[in-house]
Amino acid sequence: MGDKTDSRHFETVYADHAATTPMHPKVLETMTQMLENMYGNPSSLHCQGQQAKRMLIRSREMIASCIEAHPREITFTSGGSEAINQALRTAAYLGASKGKHHVVASRIEHHAVLNTLKLLEKMNCRVTFLDVPANGIVRPQDVAAAIREDTALVCVMHANNEIGTLQPVEEIGQMCREKQVLLLVDAVQSVGHIPVSVRDISASFLVFSAHKFGGPKGAGVLYTRAGIEPVPLIAGGGQERGLRAGTENLPAIAGMARALEIAVDEMTVNQKRVTALRDRLIAGLETIPQNVLNGDRQSRLPGIANFFFPGVDAETLLILLDNDGISASSGAACSAGAAMPSHVLTAIGLTPQQARSSLRFSLGPENTAEEMEYIVTRVKTHVETLRKRS
Ligand SMILES: *Cc1c(COP(=O)(O)O)cnc(C)c1O
Repeated sequence: MGDKTDSRHFETVYADHAATTPMHPKVLETMTQMLENMYGNPSSLHCQGQQAKRMLIRSREMIASCIEAHPREITFTSGGSEAINQALRTAAYLGASKGKHHVVASRIEHHAVLNTLKLLEKMNCRVTFLDVPANGIVRPQDVAAAIREDTALVCVMHANNEIGTLQPVEEIGQMCREKQVLLLVDAVQSVGHIPVSVRDISASFLVFSAHKFGGPKGAGVLYTRAGIEPVPLIAGGGQERGLRAGTENLPAIAGMARALEIAVDEMTVNQKRVTALRDRLIAGLETIPQNVLNGDRQSRLPGIANFFFPGVDAETLLILLDNDGISASSGAACSAGAAMPSHVLTAIGLTPQQARSSLRFSLGPENTAEEMEYIVTRVKTHVETLRKRS
């Protein structure tokens, strides 16, 4: 802990919601009750099984309605990464059956996309990676220019997890539909935070994950537009219409449905609240000389602000802030600890050195204005010290 003599109303400040969010108390309640009482297998014919099956059906209907999809278009997975893997493999399979082996993907996609594409490249897939301008927003005309006769799929995420920029997926979806190319939209950072509807975004596949909006870890969704049949990654029993075998993780699925329902209910209020906190944080951090906000200022998620602090090693700053009780991030959660600079920051034109001097703060509805002031004060002190040292 930092200064214990001040009058703060908190012990720690969690500013890493893009890595994962705390569970909403009501979700915890739903899940605890289910873990205690609803242990039936939805495939069983007896009353416990049928009770579980009804819960599964209801969860699917709730989730489908939150993104304006049909329940049949929803496949439950173990999270965002699995859903992305399944979408990409399905697209590769469908493409190959038509002699199309080409994929277009932005360079700022999540590692779940990039590393799955790497595997597919070893299996006859060709990938064109799209450069992204300094504002961190993919240009639809670049997508159009990259699409060829043999393009099977385009991958552009809805909101970037490191810099928070929103991508023009409606326009890209329209284009893909006209050109009859499949589109995967990784909406893990946007679903539950800003409005997402598969009526507005004409995606073939859309993916999201419960633990990014107040739900449990280990539950996610693969939306596949009617008419597209996902290729199973896990074969076995006939769960999920034969598309994803294994006894359903019902407490997590029901928790995800509850979390999304709450997130959608509270979206307007939270969006306003979190945006105000973020803008306060940005304004505060910009009073420190030389600091630069990474990514477009306007077109961004309510909760994410990523800053380049020239002359500062981000990991050192991260540790100093951790000592103050502040949790931030110096890269995507899965690569934290690895020495590689962020592929997102280097894609938008930062040098590896500049990327290593960048830190992400990602906020949630339980953060407060007082916490933002505290972050700014601590960052200011540490940046001054570290700059003197270097
Ligand atoms: C967290 C995240 C994922 C991975 O989701 P998991 O449920 O953790 O597997 C994928 N894409 C983005 C943009 C993410 O932020």
